[in-house]
Amino acid sequence: MFSVLQAGAIEYLQASIFQDCDFLVHAFCTRQGGASKDEYDSLNMSFHEGDEDNNVLQNWGRLAAAFAIPLEQFLVVNQVHGDNIFVIKPHGGYFSSRAEMDYDAIVTDRANVAICIKTADCVPVFIADRIKKIIAVVHGGWRGTSLGITAKVIRLLQDKYGSSPQDILAAIGPAIGKCCYQVDSVVADYFYKQKGHEHFLFAGTGKNKWTLDLTGANRSQILECDIPEANIDISDLCTMCNQDLFFSHRGSGGITGRQINFMMIKEDAPCRVLTIEDNYSVQ
Ligand SMILES: [Zn+2]
Repeated sequence: MFSVLQAGAIEYLQASIFQDCDFLVHAFCTRQGGASKDEYDSLNMSFHEGDEDNNVLQNWGRLAAAFAIPLEQFLVVNQVHGDNIFVIKPHGGYFSSRAEMDYDAIVTDRANVAICIKTADCVPVFIADRIKKIIAVVHGGWRGTSLGITAKVIRLLQDKYGSSPQDILAAIGPAIGKCCYQVDSVVADYFYKQKGHEHFLFAGTGKNKWTLDLTGANRSQILECDIPEANIDISDLCTMCNQDLFFSHRGSGGITGRQINFMMIKEDAPCRVLTIEDNYSVQ
């Protein structure tokens, strides 16, 4: 189940599946509460869609203030509709050049890095190992989803971190629903080859038209990795049907902003500095 919450002027959604994970903070933000105008009204978080940089900067400032997370702790990658996964190691820097930032999923067990996915119809998938305290965010557009990116991320958790299926929780945020997502046979062909496609690919209205349930396709990938159904939370809000709340690429005809979805591991309480002055005197 998803609930709508407010941080400052920003309206956002949270998935109840993560409610007992005290170690993390997450938000699927709406488009509300920002400074941008017109097509980008108002919480547009992307510098690459034609909005004024100053407005986007202001929006990032508002997000940071609303959630009390310093701006430099947010990590946004390029999102290129592929299936490459960026794993943030516990220590050290991330990137030395912009060309290195082409990823559509981020995985980390590092605290204080708010890993972000920007969307406007594509599916934001959040994954957490509630025991090992590892988090992942996935950008599931049709290409990434057809490449099985969500399953790939879960397999990585299982293979590299030893995550058990019953400890993995997943939330699928607001995205374009099957009510609105018609695709042609070029796109449909990618999904037709997938196992269980009858659950998320349906005949559309018109010749060579198909209805694709992108959320359902990502859900299938999660289930395929043996994650129990009870561990999956799904938002039923369609971004195209709810353009007062969300940016929708299709619904807008292509010129629109991007909402931000982020997840972060909170830092453990810092060690107290040991002071020795009180009991230590030089004779
Ligand atoms: Zn819809």
